[in-house]
Amino acid sequence: MSAYDDLMAFQRETEALAQVAGRLGWDQETMMPAGAAEQRSEEMAAMESVLHARRTDPKLHDWLGLIDDLTLDPVGQANMRHIRRRYARTMKVPAKLASEIARVTSVAQGVWARARASEDFAAFAPTLEKVVKLRQEEAAALAEGSDLYDALLDDYEPGATAAGLEAMFGALRPRLVALREKILHAPHQPLPLTGEFPEAGQLTLSRELALAFGYDLNHGRIDKAVHPFSSGSGLDVRITTRTNPADPFNCFYSTIHEVGHAAYEQAIDRAYLLTPLGAGVSMGVHESQSRSYENQLGRSRAFTGFLYGRMRDTFGDFGISDAESFYASVNRVHPGYIRTEADEVQYNLHVLMRFDLERALIDGSLKVADLPTAWNSRFEADFGVKVDKPSNGCLQDVHWSVGLFGYFPTYTLGNVYAGCLTKAMRVALPDLDSALARGDTSPATDWLREKLQQHGGLHEPRDTVRRACGFEPDEGPLLDYLEAKFGAIYQF
Ligand code: ZN
Repeated sequence: MSAYDDLMAFQRETEALAQVAGRLGWDQETMMPAGAAEQRSEEMAAMESVLHARRTDPKLHDWLGLIDDLTLDPVGQANMRHIRRRYARTMKVPAKLASEIARVTSVAQGVWARARASEDFAAFAPTLEKVVKLRQEEAAALAEGSDLYDALLDDYEPGATAAGLEAMFGALRPRLVALREKILHAPHQPLPLTGEFPEAGQLTLSRELALAFGYDLNHGRIDKAVHPFSSGSGLDVRITTRTNPADPFNCFYSTIHEVGHAAYEQAIDRAYLLTPLGAGVSMGVHESQSRSYENQLGRSRAFTGFLYGRMRDTFGDFGISDAESFYASVNRVHPGYIRTEADEVQYNLHVLMRFDLERALIDGSLKVADLPTAWNSRFEADFGVKVDKPSNGCLQDVHWSVGLFGYFPTYTLGNVYAGCLTKAMRVALPDLDSALARGDTSPATDWLREKLQQHGGLHEPRDTVRRACGFEPDEGPLLDYLEAKFGAIYQF
């Protein structure tokens, strides 16, 4: 056995244990009896300490010293790139700081939830200050003198930099603000969906949609949870969904979104199972898949024509008289404060403001006490509306309470990548709409599987997208797509 073989055998067990830890999290959100919470947190902490011990095991240091990456094939070199990067990151953060971050963020989520429920930012501010300070310390340990925010971003999107994202987002913002203005002032406004849509019908149809988008139920399952999510890699990738009797689109499109994440994991080359290459390569690339499935495919004119028919079969007449009006209703743009409820046009504006605000928090130019004012003035500038209460403003997202700084921009990066992939896919598949109109997404999902998904972590994130679409990714295709689509719907 070579040092590389020994390392990979050790790594495989670590990856298997990480999958088990993830499944405990899935169980907590879906099946766990309410009374088991206390024991579960101890079980999960025990798994975390086993994983941490393995990730800092002195044997890793020895193996990494013995292996000459250049003697390995491209798969071996990619494995080593992931293992070396993760090991270096883990070792740079002092153990005491890592455990302090874990302790503070586990409490902070509850403090945030209570502050949000009582519309009381001041009750959350001292905790958020602690979280920001700890993440600044962690970033300083990781960055070793270079940009703090880049060091945090690297956890979710290796290779991306704040400067690169700032340039991309700077180009997105004015065109999105202008498009939003035009849409909301257009004389022609689509009607919202109204009526009652029984849960049983929603769940049956959402399962049908999951299968239509290629979700493999032999290696997955669908359950109900408060928040939709996808969990696991390889042969066991599960998703959750939720229902709201007044809003079946929430159920359908969050299911299609999570299927995008899960189908990516299920499509990765089986040879990479339980290795560092056996999972989606970054948050941004992951989101490019979920967003392509949800928006560019699922909210297309062709596919909504199919969905319109299936909804009438399932729920009877629901007051929308033709497929064209249904398409406009699915894509309706409406003013709102909440990121997770935003449409394709406004969603990225929500992300862009969070990116600017969290960078200012991390570099210290924005104090936590000044966050509500900064949030509200930026929101008014981009959305034209005053924020009415903290739960509609800077207390709406869980991310900062659990220490996720550097995560938000990956949502918009995913949308930008989805725009590029769609542009390339539409050239390669000129007849795609006739299949989508029959509810057959396979030409598109097969194309994504072959061009991108199967490769898992083989290439760097941006390179993964560049190879799939055949050009350097930028924000142009997403903006062109949004302007063309919404110009047609709103008739300007
Ligand atoms: Zn997602």
